[in-house]
Amino acid sequence: MSNRTFTMIKPDAVKAGHIGKILEQITGAGFKIVAMKMTQLSGATAGAFYAVHKARPFYQELVDFMSSGPIVAAILEKENAVEDFRKLIGATNPAEAAPGTIRALYAKNVGENAVHGSDSDENATIEGNFHFAGCDVFTY
Ligand code: UDP
Ligand code: MG
Repeated sequence: MSNRTFTMIKPDAVKAGHIGKILEQITGAGFKIVAMKMTQLSGATAGAFYAVHKARPFYQELVDFMSSGPIVAAILEKENAVEDFRKLIGATNPAEAAPGTIRALYAKNVGENAVHGSDSDENATIEGNFHFAGCDVFTY
């Protein structure tokens, strides 16, 4: 079991001014931020990050949305990080997300849903490495 996951605060939540509240909820739930940056994905970078969804009907919309404004990317550390973080963010569609979850509180709809969370230990590693060099991941 890995103790790390990867997250992004998506363009909708950044534009709406929710960075601080979302980070507060993440650290308040016991996650330690071991890498973090604000950045904007190009269409090509967003397309590569979400390549696994290439065949899905929402792929182009997702790529356009994820490259539409700045995001905050981070690697988070906690025991059982992947599963616990998915619980903290709630279902993909905010209409189905449990009350109090980040998506229930801040997501607009199934596409503009405030945050990303890795779905497996393997993908957490791949996604963290996609965004951060080893020297920008900290132990403290
Ligand atoms: N998405 C979308 N329409 C859908 C399903 C997903 O626009 O019907 C977007 C949404 O932003 C979601 C992302 O594609 O977060 C990746 O989808 P996935 O099924 O992996 O959901 P997640 O793991 O983010 O909950
Ligand atoms: Mg996913």
